[in-house]
Amino acid sequence: MTNSQSGILQTPLPKVAIIGGGPAGLMAAEVLAKSGVRVELYDAMPSLGRKFLMAGKGGMNITHAEPFDVFLTRYGTRSGEIEPLLSAFSPDTLREWIHGLGIDTFVGTSNRVFPTDMKAAPLLRAWLHRLREYGINFHARHRWCGWNEQGGLRFTTAEGECSANADAVLLALGGGSWPQLGSDAAWVSLLARRGISVAPLRPSNCGFDIVWSPLFRERFTGEPLKSIAATFAGIRKQGECVISEHGIEGGLIYAHSAALRDEIDISGHATLLLDLMPDWSPQRVQNEVSHPRGSRSLSSHLQSRLGLKGVKANLLREVLDAGQMHDPELLARNIKSLPLQLVAARPLTEAISTAGGIRFEDMDGKLMLKELPGVFCAGEMLDWEAPTGGYLLTACFASGLAAGKGVLEWLQQQ
Ligand SMILES: Cc1cc2nc3c(=O)[nH]c(=O)nc-3n(C[C@H](O)[C@H](O)[C@H](O)COP(=O)(O)OP(=O)(O)OC[C@H]3O[C@@H](n4cnc5c(N)ncnc54)[C@H](O)[C@@H]3O)c2cc1C
Repeated sequence: MTNSQSGILQTPLPKVAIIGGGPAGLMAAEVLAKSGVRVELYDAMPSLGRKFLMAGKGGMNITHAEPFDVFLTRYGTRSGEIEPLLSAFSPDTLREWIHGLGIDTFVGTSNRVFPTDMKAAPLLRAWLHRLREYGINFHARHRWCGWNEQGGLRFTTAEGECSANADAVLLALGGGSWPQLGSDAAWVSLLARRGISVAPLRPSNCGFDIVWSPLFRERFTGEPLKSIAATFAGIRKQGECVISEHGIEGGLIYAHSAALRDEIDISGHATLLLDLMPDWSPQRVQNEVSHPRGSRSLSSHLQSRLGLKGVKANLLREVLDAGQMHDPELLARNIKSLPLQLVAARPLTEAISTAGGIRFEDMDGKLMLKELPGVFCAGEMLDWEAPTGGYLLTACFASGLAAGKGVLEWLQQQ
């Protein structure tokens, strides 16, 4: 498309450098290229969208079909800043956009939305094909390493260092989790050199350390704890998790992880209460535990009366002392509310996503850095967090779209 065809921008054709080829950067690239801007997209990795592809392993949960006002609450204290982004690109609009790529979606259990084949790869393939048709130039294996003295963008490549100039720059560099997929948060220090300090990056949707006994760790690492509930700070959620070498992880834990992490930051530990039999009333558990067991061992009593065995039964022994195990009232109470002492969040590099990043207060309403006019930011590198359930990707797409539109407006004003 030429300038005159787009009808928006004057000659010469403006050039925008987008750095980061994840969902946020690619969405920004689409907006800009469709409007007739020349887009040069750089990424450090040999191929684009690696974390997006990883998110698709085991089922790509791309958004959520719950009511919009409930959806918004998932962004916690940042709901106010995320709201305008999602109003312009809602979960429904995201689904329509996916359908436009020839990929159907469906609403699964708990209102989670998936592509019909559950996979990320066909979607990414179709999208990149369309973006190439828009004329976007992709520069893989280009690691951005800041600005040179003339204000140009510096990249390291296999052939050595190179630089590029652009009328505007859009950073969509991701957070700091799973750095092997490309987003290694090296941008934090690059921006600090230009006077931009960020909210410290912290693990979000992460596992936690628990001091297991060597025997329990050896026997039960990797064992799932299915059909349980976990309560923290008065909030109860049902689901499942996994015993890990260092402690505990999995969907149910991720759902509580922001609050648990914050509590550990304040107090040095957090107590998560597990209900090992969420479908049974406390009274029913109490009745069955108290049932006379005759000569049977406690283990076979728990197994025959309550169906408690394996990792669940051994978790009780791991946490409770002999006195508590043999006091029917205390044991029943603990089966419904077993206190697990979490002592640390697992490192950011292992987390599903990142909390912290560029503060909304440091950007204008168009996601442009107030201190660096012409530099826009989008995606997980911004200071927000959300649980798993499609909320992460939805906000990445929406912020990419908003930042892309912001760049367009900025270019028109120059
Ligand atoms: C295991 C896993 C499962 C997930 N599952 C889901 C899910 O089911 N649903 C969901 O909503 N979300 C999920 N997520 C989260 C989701 O994938 C991310 O939130 C999303 O990919 C972030 O998009 P982004 O564009 O902001 O950043 P990224 O996707 O991280 O992309 C950033 C890009 O920037 C590039 N880059 C970074 N630094 C530089 C540099 N200096 N120079 C050049 N390029 C650079 C990287 O190579 C990368 O390609 C999952 C994440 C993980 C790790």
